[in-house]
Amino acid sequence: MFAKLVAVSELRWRSSTQPGLFQLGRRVVGRGEYRGLTFWEVEARTIINRVPNRGSLPFEFTINAYRGCSHGCIYCFARPTHTYLGFEKPEEFDTEIVVKINAVELVEAETRPGRWGGHHIAMGTNTDPYQPAEGRYKLTRGIVEVLVERRNPFSILTKSTLALRDLDLFVEAARKTAVSVDFSVGTLDEEVWRQTEPDTPHPGKRLEAVARLNQAGVPSGVLVAPILPGLSEDGVDEVIAAARRAGATHVYPIMLHLRPGVKEHYMGWLERTHPDLVGRYRELYAHRSRLRSRNRRRGGPSPNRPTPPPAQPTLPFSLPESRPRTSK
Ligand code: SF4
Repeated sequence: MFAKLVAVSELRWRSSTQPGLFQLGRRVVGRGEYRGLTFWEVEARTIINRVPNRGSLPFEFTINAYRGCSHGCIYCFARPTHTYLGFEKPEEFDTEIVVKINAVELVEAETRPGRWGGHHIAMGTNTDPYQPAEGRYKLTRGIVEVLVERRNPFSILTKSTLALRDLDLFVEAARKTAVSVDFSVGTLDEEVWRQTEPDTPHPGKRLEAVARLNQAGVPSGVLVAPILPGLSEDGVDEVIAAARRAGATHVYPIMLHLRPGVKEHYMGWLERTHPDLVGRYRELYAHRSRLRSRNRRRGGPSPNRPTPPPAQPTLPFSLPESRPRTSK
């Protein structure tokens, strides 16, 4: 514990050269169902983030109440953001969860009428808003409550069936504004799922959640993401078919993106678990971090429904020219 307390003084939000990120509150060691996790409760200065250089991304504003994610996906695009904060080991992304405990108050203040233009807000663009920590802190629920009250359009992307806890709010939101609660399902293969997304809800349960949301009148789509060469690529059509059966309002395939910081982590895992695939990955990702997705979208959204954001802002995705814009 002492070692950790020493380490915290070196984290970026306490650094004298980077004073602006967070104000550290307290460090909480998880117990019971949160055993193995450490929560770093911080006060953020702002909560709505404007995406710089958004390019073709269908959203401009995001909220991420948590940093780090104990779902532990081996390919997680957001891992380098933890290194940026000052956490040294890549695995700390899975266990050291930064919790912006004042997130709800900040959303309330930043979306006050007269101050905010009612733009679409995307959640789940960096870390999962319904990761296990949400069961304890309920920040996403609080944020959604504010957005519903303000009739502010929003979209959520998650892998967690915990989102169904807030079904009542989503139903109310869908009556008032443009919303979308989408699930990321990269594979239905049990082994690949267990190996690559060890602490996420079963993909089948996620598809059940998609069905339940749509039955309740809440638009819910599926991101088939990320598609892992040699591991899940052959099952993409199966996921798309299952998503359609679940009534998904939109289905997008996204190939694995291995940016620096993620690539080393993923390739290390690949070498240990699938050495036969290492050569192919080296070749595929030798001079690029992204592969283009096959250009297809199935079960597209109705004109009245918002387009979902991709799982993470700069993941590769390839959509038809006619892709409707996210409502704003
Ligand atoms: S659920 Fe999303 S944010 Fe969480 S570890 Fe997996 S890819 Fe990363």
